[in-house]
Parts: sequence; structure tokens; C-alpha cells
Amino acid sequence: MKLTDCGFACNCLALADEIYIKTMTLQRLKTMINNNPVKGRDYLYKLWRHNIKYMYAALEYCDKVGIGLFRIRSDIFPLIDHPVCPISISDLPEFTNKWPHIKLSMHPDQFCVLNSPDPVICNRSIVILDYHRDILNYFKATEPNICIHGGGVYGDRKSAGERWMHTYNRLHPSTAELVRLENDERGWTVQELFTMTKGKVPIIIDTFHWSINHEDFDTLQDAAELAFRTWTTTPKIHYSEQAPEKRTGAHSDRVTKEGFFSTMHALEKLGKPFGCMLEAKHKDLALLELFVEKDWLCTI
Ligand SMILES: [Zn+2]
Repeated sequence: MKLTDCGFACNCLALADEIYIKTMTLQRLKTMINNNPVKGRDYLYKLWRHNIKYMYAALEYCDKVGIGLFRIRSDIFPLIDHPVCPISISDLPEFTNKWPHIKLSMHPDQFCVLNSPDPVICNRSIVILDYHRDILNYFKATEPNICIHGGGVYGDRKSAGERWMHTYNRLHPSTAELVRLENDERGWTVQELFTMTKGKVPIIIDTFHWSINHEDFDTLQDAAELAFRTWTTTPKIHYSEQAPEKRTGAHSDRVTKEGFFSTMHALEKLGKPFGCMLEAKHKDLALLELFVEKDWLCTI
């Protein structure tokens, strides 16, 4: 496994003193727009432009250190998915992606649920996914993908799966083709996701979730083999470890070299190249620590 096949999520901690994503609450925007619509719009526009600047800095940094995958924060354009939002992506200047070798992805939050029994939530999830697609398009993402979970089971896996597929089939094809499903630590194993989708939606195997919820296969390799089969592009996995003395499923700050590389070696035996998103709380620092010497880290 090489660093160029690995990535991290959202926040570059090495850049934190220089630049970071800025956000805004809906309430604050509403108040600003009510008080002064022009000022409110300008403020939000500046915020979005600032976050684009962050993306330039983040990708430049990934390129410099040799990181090959990067997850864009869902709130990079705050309030984009809200009806009161006075601006849209088409108001922005063109983004120049000078780093097409860095693969970009997104991971909507837990409000994106395709199999909710509440149709309002399903409809809202479709809107959320379309915005994620638009954001990935704006940043001219290479091999873009949007990772989501299977949602609840609601006491009836079969119906929950059917509802998921029903909403998935309502997605615009340009959005649906970006969707990837991740196994989780409670509801859905790789096998269950595969059965639900008949293998038609690429599955990201999260190795940590698999270690907590793996009634599907005896070995991680077997589960990964099935997940990899669902991809027509390079498959992706998630790696993280349990945080000590925290609830089961809580991600640790850093991960162990032994744990990381032994898992990578096991999966490399499947003979298929894959990308790995590290989901450790210390983000890029946790990732770099696996691949480079400490002295070098201090020079970043
Ligand atoms: Zn994950």
C-alpha cells in the first residue's frame, strides 16, 4: 500500500493554523437576510469563496505530501441545500483542478437516509445527494464518489432494503452512478448490502465496521472479495481503529502501523488494487505517520 493510494477526510490538520473550513448556521443566515438581504448574500458568498480557497490549499498540500485521496466536507458550501440560500454553485468562479490525480469523494451526514419510512426524509435525501454530485462536479473530481450507509433496518430488513432500492432508483442517473454503500457496525453487513442491491451499487468495505459486525463472512478477505466485485473502477475501503475506553465503534485518534499494514497486506492478497480512506480523528497527521518518518513530518 502506498500513500498515493490513501487519503483522509475533510480537515487538513497540518494546515489548521493557516486555513480551515468556515461554516454558518441557518438561523444566522436567516437573521442576516432578514436584516439586510444584500449583506446576507455577500457574507455567504464570501464564506463559500473562502472555502474554495481552503480546497486549493488542501489539494496543494495533498499533492505536496503525496496523499492520493481526499474527502470534501459536506458543508463546504454552507446552506447550499436550503431553500433560503440566496446563491448557487453557478454564481461561483470556475475551479481549476490542478490535481486530477487526487481522487475526491464525499460522505453526507446521517440525515441522508434512502430507506426512511418517512417519504419527506427520502425526498430530502435525494436533494442532498444531488448537491453532493454538484459539488463534486464543481471541483472537477476524478473518480468521484458519494459514500452513504444502508440506513435503518426498522425491524424488517426486507422492506427496508426494498425502500432503499426504491429511493435509489428515483435518483437522477448522474447522481446514482456516484453512490457507494458502506457496511456499518449495526445494520448492514457487506453481504446484506450486496443482497439488497443485487451487487449493482459499489460497496466500500469499512474494515473497522466489519470487525464489529461480521456475521456475513469469517474473514475480512472474503467480505472484501465480494465488495471489490461490485466495482468497475478502483475499489475503495475505509480503515480505522477502536478508540480506547470509548463506546464500541468510536474512532481512535491515530492508528497502529501493525494493524494498518497487516490489514492492507491481507487485502492486497486479493490481487486487485484499491484505495484506502483513513478515518482516524487526527486525519492527515494520522495518515502521514504511517508512511513517513517523524523528522520529515516536522518539516511540513
Ligand atoms: Zn467508514
